[in-house]
Amino acid sequence: MGKDNFYDMITGLPNMSYFLQLAEVGKQTMLKNGELPVLLYFDLKGMKFFNSKYGLKEGDILLNAMAQTLKRFFSEENCGRMGQDHFAVFTKEEGVEDVLNEFFEVFKHANEGRTLPVHVGIYSISFEDVSISTACDRAKIASDKDKSRYSSTFTYYDEQLHNHSNRYSYVLNNFDTAIKEKWIRPYYQPLVRSVNGKVCDEEALARWIDPEEGMIPPNEFIYVLEDARLIHLLDLHILEMVIEDMKLTQKMGLPILPVSINLSKYDFQLCDIVDEINKRVTAAGISPKYITLEVTESVSTFEKDFVREQIEKVHAAGFKIWMDDFGSGYSSLNMLQSFDFDAIKFDMIFLKDFAESKRNHIILKELIQMAMKLDIDTVVEGVETTDQARFLREIGANKMQGYYWGKPNTLENKHLICKTSIGNPTEEFAETEYYDSISKANLLEPDIEADYYIDPEEYFGPHPMGVIEVKDNTLRVLRYNKTYAMFLINAKFINEEDLGTGELLVRRTPEASFMETLERCIKSGKWESLQGTIAENFKSDLFLKYISKNEVTNAVAVEIVIVSITTV
Ligand code: C2E
Ligand code: CA
Ligand code: CA
Repeated sequence: MGKDNFYDMITGLPNMSYFLQLAEVGKQTMLKNGELPVLLYFDLKGMKFFNSKYGLKEGDILLNAMAQTLKRFFSEENCGRMGQDHFAVFTKEEGVEDVLNEFFEVFKHANEGRTLPVHVGIYSISFEDVSISTACDRAKIASDKDKSRYSSTFTYYDEQLHNHSNRYSYVLNNFDTAIKEKWIRPYYQPLVRSVNGKVCDEEALARWIDPEEGMIPPNEFIYVLEDARLIHLLDLHILEMVIEDMKLTQKMGLPILPVSINLSKYDFQLCDIVDEINKRVTAAGISPKYITLEVTESVSTFEKDFVREQIEKVHAAGFKIWMDDFGSGYSSLNMLQSFDFDAIKFDMIFLKDFAESKRNHIILKELIQMAMKLDIDTVVEGVETTDQARFLREIGANKMQGYYWGKPNTLENKHLICKTSIGNPTEEFAETEYYDSISKANLLEPDIEADYYIDPEEYFGPHPMGVIEVKDNTLRVLRYNKTYAMFLINAKFINEEDLGTGELLVRRTPEASFMETLERCIKSGKWESLQGTIAENFKSDLFLKYISKNEVTNAVAVEIVIVSITTV
């Protein structure tokens, strides 16, 4: 055999197979001498970019400089080129960190400073005595860990990486079976409408229930499937299961609700995803009104026209599309301006440190205002406490989701909860339009055009405003801002303890003049005013306007704005 079969042409270092042989022998020698061997895997960061900027020839010169520096530090017989811009070294563990730091420093100035940072993975035999080629694979995994970092660094292969990479290959090797055997299936988490406390939608969240590994959460398989470009198969599988579940639910005589499905941005590259979804929903004879698609702002990396086209297709097919995880990325605001989303789902980051940080309260309040002006629905995720739910209702968030109402649940448990009516009641689909119109009433800037309406912001902060529901002479408050809640409590219409997330009963009938104005506005459909109505110690001027009627219960919703209050 000639020299070429052992050495790499460009760098003159041992090639991969020769290096593996050398290292196997070297390892035995080290162990005999009482030294602990480690395997180092070197990866140049940004080699593709370097090649395209300076040309392949310059690229080869850099690889050569790398090889020469490695030789200087570790001697020729301990180094190898593993292909592309990857190199491996075996050496003793003792002092290896100092050597690497020094290597980084020297390599920074190699090739007249025209170099790249290096990521090094370290595999120590002390972790587990494995073959050199396995040690190489593991050191490579470690070198890949800190992908986004653009400076030289080293990382040890440890227990965490070990579990991680085992899981990675397990997911890839078993994905087909997991779909076929339905180990992967949707769990359902309720979304609650803030004005009536009823469950109005559900989100399908993928769970992999593995016969051997137990429950695998989505954050351990979604990214693997995205990496492997298989994610569309998962998302379509979840859709198929959701359809199956819906049919079963209907067959059992239980109500069905719109379900939202999570899509990955890669779905749009891997297939005609909207078409695939449409085909399945149509074939099943399910109304598209029952399917909502959630995409994250990561789709903003696509061409604007492409995204617009996809959203148009979604709408043409009759589905709704929501922007998920709003606020967790960078381009959120841009996206609202450019695309026609039906709702925004605010990331749970806004509710982090809710009790301590008032900043997030202000931000969320303003953003919900903005969405309302753009006529986009709002959903807030990650609600865990009563205080959060109250606050969100006050600032006009339409829908809420979180452990406060329930964790993602199996279909069977969901049916059980529904049948036994523990948990929140579900909204009938026929009521949806009614409640949507109530959600849309803007309690911060009502559209009154009367002469003597004073813009609250010019005056003294927000007027008391809300939405009340009239049914068989009973009044309920569906929505309220803070000042209206204060008024209702002070005028003894409600008890403070009543404030919460469900129905809010008015405990005292208002003056006759109020009830007359109410009747009048229901008939006229316009803003009607009432001056000098008395409640407890307060005299107030107010406006009322009809919003809509609930076709299921015959209740009527009316918006109320109190423009002045004086004490008497
Ligand atoms: P996501 O779409 O933002 O889903 C919300 C996640 O927050 C879910 O985690 C849910 O269980 C969790 N969550 C809900 N309420 C609360 C709460 O009050 N507190 C806290 N701390 N967490 C709450 P999960 O199910 O682990 O899903 C994680 C992510 O995986 C999802 O985030 C979504 O991005 C992705 N995912 C899940 N299923 C699918 C799927 O079928 N397809 C795709 N492409 N992605 C999916
Ligand atoms: Ca989601
Ligand atoms: Ca989300």
